[in-house]
Amino acid sequence: MARLRNTNGNNGFERVCSFCGRSADMARRLVAGPNDVFICNECVEVCRHILEDEDQDMTAQFSGNIPTPHELKAYLDLFIIGQEEAKKALSVAVYNHYKRIANPARQQDDVEIEKSNVLLIGPTGTGKTLLAKTLAKKLKVPFAIVDATTLTEAGYVGEDVENILLKLIQNAGGNIAQAERGIIYIDEIDKIARKGENVSITRDVSGEGVQQALLKIIEGTVASVPPQGGRKHPNQDLIRLDTTNILFICGGAFVGLDSHIARRVVQHPMGFGSEGRSTWERNLKELYRSLHPDDLIHFGMIPEFIGRLPITVCLEELSRDDLRRIITEPKNAIVKQYQASLAIDNVQLEFTGDAIDAIADTAIKQKTGARGLRAIVERLMTDIMFDIPSLEGRRRVVITRDVVEQSQPPEMYSLQMSA
Ligand code: ADP
Repeated sequence: MARLRNTNGNNGFERVCSFCGRSADMARRLVAGPNDVFICNECVEVCRHILEDEDQDMTAQFSGNIPTPHELKAYLDLFIIGQEEAKKALSVAVYNHYKRIANPARQQDDVEIEKSNVLLIGPTGTGKTLLAKTLAKKLKVPFAIVDATTLTEAGYVGEDVENILLKLIQNAGGNIAQAERGIIYIDEIDKIARKGENVSITRDVSGEGVQQALLKIIEGTVASVPPQGGRKHPNQDLIRLDTTNILFICGGAFVGLDSHIARRVVQHPMGFGSEGRSTWERNLKELYRSLHPDDLIHFGMIPEFIGRLPITVCLEELSRDDLRRIITEPKNAIVKQYQASLAIDNVQLEFTGDAIDAIADTAIKQKTGARGLRAIVERLMTDIMFDIPSLEGRRRVVITRDVVEQSQPPEMYSLQMSA
């Protein structure tokens, strides 16, 4: 970069703006930085405008423009089946979060509205990640998913927690102002629970240390992010990112938490009669209603960490009917995707009601929630997708229960081209 320009060979160097090349004579002021770098008053002004515009863009994006909780829930309904309470609670939390960002002036009042990060608790494959992703899509904000198990506290082998932020910056196309209003979903948060309830004498690298390291960025701080990812090292240019307005949604299955709550509730049934523990165990939804922060601390989350996730949302186990609906109903349902894909090959694809039941039952047996559905349908479709493009003419292909359960070939009919 041009900093000092040799203007006349023998008479030494002239100071020039490192950005636009103006010489000291032409600029009103030239501000010097380290290593002979200069910037002129006009370039300072241009930079100020760029930063102001970015901020205004973001304020415009949200002021008067934030979808209401009803609108957010209606959007979630297009993609997510069931989980009514979770969709409602998240819509409110997200609305409040962006309302707070869009009205910074209000924060100068005595009452400061605190940020409302969210903890999602629920079995695997019930839609935790999908909820977070869908909200980010609706709000048109950058979104990043990270896996808590890959993180370690600084100084240990693994990724520094700041790399979470790097992902968000990358997904925001490098736009820091946008990234500062994004949503980060931290998956498998239950896997960084500390191992025992009592504080261990030795440092717990994988669990408590990571929770400690995450505290600050979740709460809000100006973090220094290594642009290349990996570990921070000295003499590296770091990206400064303010996490105050980033919404953190943490999710985990918290296996065993239900029986812990059940034990506690049955010891102190608080008027729930003598049905006993088995009744509670059967109804995960009711059980999670009695969730108390102490249950999470007992699980191994540190109190400070739980304190920074003030909104807890519990997801239900998906029923057979939910799974059936997931296969066929959402905007981008698996069946709709295959139908659209095969329509390009002149195929009219149908699934009988029995076949959908059989797919749902297989997923229940696998205990993977809705996560396993795609793989099950994918397996069914492989042979069909292999053969179809080589066949002439329009066809109707029907997937029946036998195709799902007995791996039989599907029924195939020729159709008139005009049909
Ligand atoms: P989790 O994060 O709870 O483990 P995901 O959100 O990753 O589960 O779900 C995995 C996949 O299963 C999603 O991409 C989606 O296709 C499907 N899925 C899960 N739950 C639902 C739901 N409630 N409604 C619609 N699809 C769902």
